[in-house]
Amino acid sequence: MTTSSGSKSLTTWLKKKIRPALSLQGSVAAYHRSPRHEVCNTQIVYCSNLEQIKNYSPKLSYALHNKLNLNKQLLRFVFPVMCVDGTVVLIVTKEALYEDAVGSLQLKLIEQGYQLNERSYLITDAAILLAARRILPSGEKELKQQHRSESYSMAQWSEAELHAMFIELVRWGVENEASDLHINLNLSAQFSDVLYTIAGRYIRPRVFHSIQTKLLKDMLAVVWMGIQGGNAAVFDAYQEQQGRLECQVNGQTVRLRWASLAALDGPSVCIRILKKQDKSRLTLKQLGYLPEQEKQLLEGALSERGAIIFSGSVGSGKSTALAALVRELPLWRKIITLEDPVEYRIPNAIQVSIARQLDGDSEQHFSTKLRALKRSAMSDVILGEIRDPETAQAFTDLTTSGVRVYTTLHAAGAKQIIQRLSSSFLGIDPQILNTPGVLRLLVHQELLPKLCPQCALPIKKLQKYPNHTATSLYQFRPFKQWQKQLKSIWGDSYPNLRIRNAKGCDRCQVWQKRGLGGYLGRTIVAELFSPEYKELFKPIHYTAWFKASKGFLDPMDLELYFGVFERAHWQRFSPLEVPIFNAVEKTNFLKPI
Ligand SMILES: [Zn+2]
Repeated sequence: MTTSSGSKSLTTWLKKKIRPALSLQGSVAAYHRSPRHEVCNTQIVYCSNLEQIKNYSPKLSYALHNKLNLNKQLLRFVFPVMCVDGTVVLIVTKEALYEDAVGSLQLKLIEQGYQLNERSYLITDAAILLAARRILPSGEKELKQQHRSESYSMAQWSEAELHAMFIELVRWGVENEASDLHINLNLSAQFSDVLYTIAGRYIRPRVFHSIQTKLLKDMLAVVWMGIQGGNAAVFDAYQEQQGRLECQVNGQTVRLRWASLAALDGPSVCIRILKKQDKSRLTLKQLGYLPEQEKQLLEGALSERGAIIFSGSVGSGKSTALAALVRELPLWRKIITLEDPVEYRIPNAIQVSIARQLDGDSEQHFSTKLRALKRSAMSDVILGEIRDPETAQAFTDLTTSGVRVYTTLHAAGAKQIIQRLSSSFLGIDPQILNTPGVLRLLVHQELLPKLCPQCALPIKKLQKYPNHTATSLYQFRPFKQWQKQLKSIWGDSYPNLRIRNAKGCDRCQVWQKRGLGGYLGRTIVAELFSPEYKELFKPIHYTAWFKASKGFLDPMDLELYFGVFERAHWQRFSPLEVPIFNAVEKTNFLKPI
């Protein structure tokens, strides 16, 4: 659900701006001779970034759209350009290549006496196409003037085009399972960076290498206009700003959380990508919880009251795991969620969204909702996240009133959840937290990339660190020494250890595209702490050790998430202390070599 009925979503806004169908204006509309025009491979050149378009041979000279009187809607997908040798090329998005309108445009060019280049189609994505339009003079006259200053017409960019470019950036993120999109403007440079966080890594995709700063800035300014709950009316490069927006990508509603940071070179805008529907509907086991842990979680959920709290770093899948647990609850329990905003739809729950703004009125709104909630005779409450004194207060209220509460929190470990709740910032009375039954189960999880089972390399057969490793970082520890360390930590399981092969293979191509070849999927690694059964606690690196011992995880990633093997907690580690995971499913794990 959208957060407030009065606010309009980005998508609705965009629909009003864009005409629905791809069509040509004027006389060209009469060209229906080629319903599905033919394109042969020799005519096509793929350009994955703007540099390739700029360096194209023959060199591109100026745009022809004004001369041909083409409408703007069409220009989002195809853009005709005159080259220095007098031939014409069409910059086209991959999706539009076989569109009739493109064929019609080609016919129109021929009829008007233009000569098409042998390689007449430059295929690229919509964002690069827009960027190319920006750098090319819009006609012969402008080419002669060589007018390329900064002032060079923002006016020719409609808001809808800038929005479309933004949607392209979000689409790439969604398709590649990114948790965040980062746009780091460098106001004094011609180009700025577009990056993504995928599997906890900061990735710079090649396709967005050269997008102009000015274009990105204009785009952000336009997108900000559709923001909900923002703390300013206009996009301001010199001020920290937060807000939310929603858009449609590939038929799916995507919620975005915007947070900008005024940095030295310009604003750094971080956009959290939250898919509204968790279509995957994975179970706890499929997410990576071990059977013993799943059992503990389900037992916790069956208890008569108390809280289950998920913690983890940003993008560790806390909300996904929470949703998976709640889906397991029986239908006779009345479940209400109170979220800011609703992140996942949970079929058997009544979901309430609270869109809080940074003013007093909305705080009032929150407590009114809470009061209404307490009168709703529910048995289970999902509180989106404890992130401020207000939500902490709501948490205390609910847990002490005898309902079951599920929530998430940022903390460094399961046991640290208690410290975090009683910190001066959140301010929950430690006495309440120590009351038996209030904190039922505390969970801490991380989401680690899984090794591709087809191409991962057996560590025992290697002589040195693989090439992708930042070896200068590991100068302190030669490879042989590392192997020795692994042998002592993994004991009999050492021969099963594998490391990522960054070259990748046909099976992990998708991850290759993300700059993370050699990985395939992700898995949750978790620790569970029950204050009632303290003795059952096993730290998170025990689970990680176990999964690496089956060839599932790269030991280098374990160091990245859980500390280098020189650290005391690894040095003290003994495989004999991992009995809890012995009864585990056999699926998917690699066979020992
Ligand atoms: Zn592979």
